[in-house]
Amino acid sequence: MEVKVFKFGGASVKDAAHIYNVAGILKNYKNDKICIVVSAMGKSTNALEQVFYAYIKEGLDVFKEMMLDIIDFHLAEAEKLHIPLDMLHVDYDALVNQCIKTIEPIDKANKGAIYDQIVSLGELMSSKLLTVYLQQKGKRAHWLDVRNVIVTDKRYQEARVDFLVTQENVNDKVSPLFEETDVLVTQGFIGAEPDGLTTTLGREGSDYSAAILAFCLNVEALTIWKDVPGVLTADPRRFENVEKLDRMSYNEAIEMTYYGAQVIHPKTIRPLQNKGIKLHVKSFIDPDGEGTVIAHDGLLNYPPLVVIQDNMLLMHISSKDFSFIAENHLSQIFKVLNENRIKLGTMRNSAISFTICVKDPGKEKLNKLIEDLGEIFTLDVYHNLQLMTVRYFNKNLIESLTKNKVVLFEERMKYTIQLVVRPSLELIEKTEEEK
Ligand code: ASP
Ligand code: MG
Repeated sequence: MEVKVFKFGGASVKDAAHIYNVAGILKNYKNDKICIVVSAMGKSTNALEQVFYAYIKEGLDVFKEMMLDIIDFHLAEAEKLHIPLDMLHVDYDALVNQCIKTIEPIDKANKGAIYDQIVSLGELMSSKLLTVYLQQKGKRAHWLDVRNVIVTDKRYQEARVDFLVTQENVNDKVSPLFEETDVLVTQGFIGAEPDGLTTTLGREGSDYSAAILAFCLNVEALTIWKDVPGVLTADPRRFENVEKLDRMSYNEAIEMTYYGAQVIHPKTIRPLQNKGIKLHVKSFIDPDGEGTVIAHDGLLNYPPLVVIQDNMLLMHISSKDFSFIAENHLSQIFKVLNENRIKLGTMRNSAISFTICVKDPGKEKLNKLIEDLGEIFTLDVYHNLQLMTVRYFNKNLIESLTKNKVVLFEERMKYTIQLVVRPSLELIEKTEEEK
């Protein structure tokens, strides 16, 4: 008997047909014990974010109304799977009531804590549905509330995991469950802080949850089931001639995800690498396909790998008095970036300025950042840019990628080139006119 960890993301459980498909995949693993880490169905996390905003702005009545719709959506999909709805309905009501009881006493200024209590409902609901469905199919399946296992700090919306306590919990509460069950269904993305409030690990964090559990359960392999055949050389929605990689090293995967490749959450690799746990990236549409194996050894030669990020902005930060940008300035800048939780895409410093490229954080956060930095520095900000990162680049590829584009920034390293570009000349003229 081998324990395996499977992660099913939102797209793989987005409706009844997809949940049916998950059960089909499990048929190929009848002799294994499986820990399933599941995301919220489809776009439910986005819907729950709207519920959160509405609660902050308009209060509990609107919250309740909007939650009814979300429950209805889940029940309608459950009905298509012929799941008895009564029990599920009772469970969903209990989850929502518990959430209400928890958020009511929280000061609305404490937005992060409220966000986590509300947005976590998506994973709680999807995992309930999948568990009941598998049980109905005759599987020995068990629903596990991961909040009793993954313990984090109180940094809401981006909580950090306490691996020591989590490991103890896995030993005491999770491993023994496999004596009575074949499939454990639990939630990605969420955990709890020591006082019991729910926390979340950051958007798209379910991959990371799966890696944490794989690490603590000491398994040989984790499989992430996706709507692509494996790790590809570029995003197939943007490029036609993409190739699947059969193998990839942990290091390469860390680099790619660091540069914004969305195939796996960036935090996922480290726990796996630490224990040499193989990561299989496979297609839930073609489950017999080989997928990509990520392990210590990857390929000897990689083809060019392209990662494109939209909606980036470039910020030139210079000292007001034309003094050199030196270490003390840089540490001030990084401190402000860190306080505002802004993640860098790329950066470079020159004598009197420091240039950063970051994902546009939205008006409110950007204004705050500008205010914080503006005390000491002069800032120039350019919006609506694209950051292209190419590993193992060649001249022809760069030429074709930058055709009809204005390159505003370029950083070349041995294996990696980063370019910040504006889509076309016309666009630049248009924005000039608007000024
Ligand atoms: N449901 C969460 C999100 O959409 C976590 C995840 O899917 O990984 O961000
Ligand atoms: Mg997802």
